[in-house]
Amino acid sequence: MTDLFRAIVLKVLYPVLMLVGAFLKDKKERFQLYIIDLNNKLVRMQGFKTKRILLLLPHCLQINDCDVRITNDIYNCKRCGRCNIKDLIAVAEDNHLKLFVATGGNLARRIVSDVRPEAVVAVACERDLSSGIADAYPLPVLGIPNERPFGPCFNTRVDLSRVKEAIEFFGK
Ligand code: SF4
Repeated sequence: MTDLFRAIVLKVLYPVLMLVGAFLKDKKERFQLYIIDLNNKLVRMQGFKTKRILLLLPHCLQINDCDVRITNDIYNCKRCGRCNIKDLIAVAEDNHLKLFVATGGNLARRIVSDVRPEAVVAVACERDLSSGIADAYPLPVLGIPNERPFGPCFNTRVDLSRVKEAIEFFGK
C-alpha cells in the first residue's frame, strides 16, 4: 500500500506540481522539497533494509578552487578537508558503500544503472533530487537537499549527520 502511494506521489502528484510550478515559479522549489520529504517518509515507512547502498553526491560539493578531478574517480580527492568530500569518503569507507559524484541527472541515472544498488542515499539540490527520485522509482531513495550558502551550484555543503542517519536507516 505504501509503495502504491509512493508511485502516486512520484508519478502523478510530482508532474502535476511541476506543471503548476511552471506558472508559480517562486513556489516550484517548495513543491520539490515537499515531494522529497513525502518520498523520504514513505521510504522510511516501507522499512526496506540492505547493505547494497549507493551514496550519490553532486559535483558542486567540491570546493570551486580545488584542482583535483573527482568526477571520474572521487578517490582522487587528496582529503585536505576544505570541503565535505573528505568526510563523505570516510563515511562511505566506514560503511563499505559505493560512492560516486554526478555532474547532472543523466550521469546520475547512468551510475544507478551501472552500480545496480538496492537503495540510494542522494545529495543534490531540490530540482535534481526530486526528478532523480521520481526517475529511480521503484528503487528506494532517501534524498538530502544540499546547503547553498553561496547560491546554486557553487561551494555547496551537506549536513553529514543527515547522510550518516540515512545510511544507518537502510543498513541497520
Ligand atoms: S577535500 Fe580537498 S582535495 Fe578533496 S575535493 Fe575537497 S578540496 Fe579537493
